[in-house]
Amino acid sequence: MRTLILLTLATITLLAQDVPNPPKDFDGKSWWDHIKVLAADNMEGRETGSPGLKRAEAYIVDQLKAAGIEPAGASGYYQPIKFISREIDEKSSSMALVKDDKAEPLTLGEDAFFSTRVDLAPEVDVPLVFVGYGLNVPEQDYDDLSGLDLKGKIAVVFSGIPASIPGPLGSHYSTQAERWKALKAAGAIGAINIPNPASMDIPWSRMTLARARPSMDLADPEFNETAGEKIGGVINPAHADKFFAASGHSFQEILDVSKDRKQLPRFPLNISLRARAKTITHTLESSNVIGKLPGTDPALKNEYVILSAHVDHLGIGEPINGDRIYNGAMDNASGDGVLLDVAAALKSSANKPKRSLLFLFVTAEEKGLLGSKYFAAHPTVPDKSMVADINIDMFLPLYPMKMVTVYGLKESDLGDEIRQVANKDGIEVEDDPEPQRNSFIRSDQYNFIRHGIPALTMKVGYRPGSPEDKTFHDWLHERYHAPSDDLKQPVDLGAAGKYEQVISQLMLTVADDERRPEWKQQSFFRRYAQPSGGE
Ligand SMILES: [Zn+2]
Repeated sequence: MRTLILLTLATITLLAQDVPNPPKDFDGKSWWDHIKVLAADNMEGRETGSPGLKRAEAYIVDQLKAAGIEPAGASGYYQPIKFISREIDEKSSSMALVKDDKAEPLTLGEDAFFSTRVDLAPEVDVPLVFVGYGLNVPEQDYDDLSGLDLKGKIAVVFSGIPASIPGPLGSHYSTQAERWKALKAAGAIGAINIPNPASMDIPWSRMTLARARPSMDLADPEFNETAGEKIGGVINPAHADKFFAASGHSFQEILDVSKDRKQLPRFPLNISLRARAKTITHTLESSNVIGKLPGTDPALKNEYVILSAHVDHLGIGEPINGDRIYNGAMDNASGDGVLLDVAAALKSSANKPKRSLLFLFVTAEEKGLLGSKYFAAHPTVPDKSMVADINIDMFLPLYPMKMVTVYGLKESDLGDEIRQVANKDGIEVEDDPEPQRNSFIRSDQYNFIRHGIPALTMKVGYRPGSPEDKTFHDWLHERYHAPSDDLKQPVDLGAAGKYEQVISQLMLTVADDERRPEWKQQSFFRRYAQPSGGE
């Protein structure tokens, strides 16, 4: 009896000791010092390919060098990447709705705008079909496209995922690449989105301002995910009625059904879109920045745990309240600051990781996760040596950190490891409270997931309905992708420090675990880890 009790106690103690202590007391001050540099006006919003982003990356490289972190890029710390950029020439472009040979011109920017993520054809004049969420999810026997004639037509898609489809699965199928695969297979030649007004992160007025900015893609054709897509665009939900007028349905009907997140009705809109598009194309180069802290274990040091964050932001754009610089302090200088702090602290700590750590600062996240897409396809370390990616993007330390929201919590062993770390630190762990926001696939971790590598990302959490919930959503509404995401905003340095503490402990936990993390048996994303799977 007694022995048994002692054994149990011993086991518990051992588990608690499994979580390493943080390498130092993070207080958020050095974190804020990095942000003051990276989000300063002279970094000009760190647009991909811009001198401002180069300056920010040079600062990061200097900091890595000073901390004794080794270069791990293709050329020193850098991994150069080639991009193409596309910009719409709106003066030479137009959209009109055509019914019985009568054309009703649309006002670009008010009714709709072109998406230059797609290589737009100069001219199209084809019928429109409303396809609901436009999803085909074989695992759930769910298909929005069955019974519709989409051959040679344009699909009009309402953004979102029905409630019947689990978050990660729905997120996966609603990526541009997967959605287009399904629409293309059904014969469509293009897709136009209507954002759901109930879940728009940024109001139409701000979305439409951003349309003049160039969009980018990786120059190498191996990465083209929209082949065959001749037209892409976005419809203002406040003006969407125009598109439904000839269909015998109303947009309000769609909004009503979407409130319960049920499958939407799908039907031909009995109207054509006549579009003329002129795009201006450039090529440019931008780099990822990569540093490494070698592991101490003779065998495990050949494996890498990646900590990633994007450096790029939106650059200089349309002014809002007289400010043209989109500084991107929280999005995502905040993440870069964590990487720099954690790298320096782990390097100078006596507690060295058994596996090697890779600090990956990626470019072109805002252009469609492009820097990480390139890195995951062409890593600067051996392909099979990457065991996990912990990604940081806009973790929002706006209030004290009592809780951490983890995206990908139930998908892999990393979820158990973050639970262990958080428990030790007295922090609650919460799964994604808003799976419909697609956060699990909306940042760079997704490119590692697609290559079979377990990944997760996390933010400072809040309880639904709490004042913190309001602060979080107010921040999204007012500052997300706006010039006011700058140095003049209230942040909680203590929360940032605590977040760094959790991240550093998680990195050490994953790096020191004898087993590399695996996808859970039931995880949808496990398919990419199968030797026969992946793409
Ligand atoms: Zn962003």
